[in-house]
Amino acid sequence: MRTTLLAAALAMSALAAACTVTDVMSPSVDVGARTDSISTQRGLARLVPSNPMMVGFPRFNAPMTERAVMPPDEVACRRELKRLGVKYRDIAPINDGGACRIDWPVEVTGLSGNIGMKPAATLSCDMAAAFAKWTKNELAPAARWRYFSGVKTIHQGSSYSCRRIAGTSTASEHSKGNALDVMRIELKSGKDIDVRKPGWFAFRERGLLKSVRNDGCQYFTTVLGPGYDAAHADHFHFDIKDRRNGYRACR
Ligand SMILES: [Zn+2]
Repeated sequence: MRTTLLAAALAMSALAAACTVTDVMSPSVDVGARTDSISTQRGLARLVPSNPMMVGFPRFNAPMTERAVMPPDEVACRRELKRLGVKYRDIAPINDGGACRIDWPVEVTGLSGNIGMKPAATLSCDMAAAFAKWTKNELAPAARWRYFSGVKTIHQGSSYSCRRIAGTSTASEHSKGNALDVMRIELKSGKDIDVRKPGWFAFRERGLLKSVRNDGCQYFTTVLGPGYDAAHADHFHFDIKDRRNGYRACR
């Protein structure tokens, strides 16, 4: 009996030696946070905004692990997210080369008032806070006022995305997680405010479109939507691009 046990123990230690912890922990294939689920190329990709592929294949986000101490402004921002009732989690830093990086990204799945965000949006904390404030103070009241209904889900088309502004060589604010594209707003009443639908500017929608733009500029530095150009015909683009002259673009 004792001999059998000893043999088994020997066999186990041989197995352990053959398959070390290092082998298991470091696969030869790169499957980390840097793997872009949209494109396998590193760097800026020429993708049109609101590429439907981005909705179909959301980014793989690794959860945040122990690392450097979070800067005070990021800590303060998270306090703000919690105060606003944002559902989010901290995820591993993103660095896809060039301008494409977020040092302290968050993944947002819900906003104040039980409003869902689909698919989950990968954003800088500042952008998440700006969008949460706008949703709470402007969008939700506007929907209640015009449609007598709360907002159920915000369907976004693009959050963090390593790319240029269409037709230029400038990195998009999406590359820094400072931008969000809204394609559709689903109300609790079942009504859909679908920015993608042609002829969307009718009746109450026209009023909502107007207030989305006007009020949006208190929270964002850029608000672009249908009627601005072909690239924004089917969605709203919000960003918090840092313009030194304080210029805001709301069109
Ligand atoms: Zn955009």
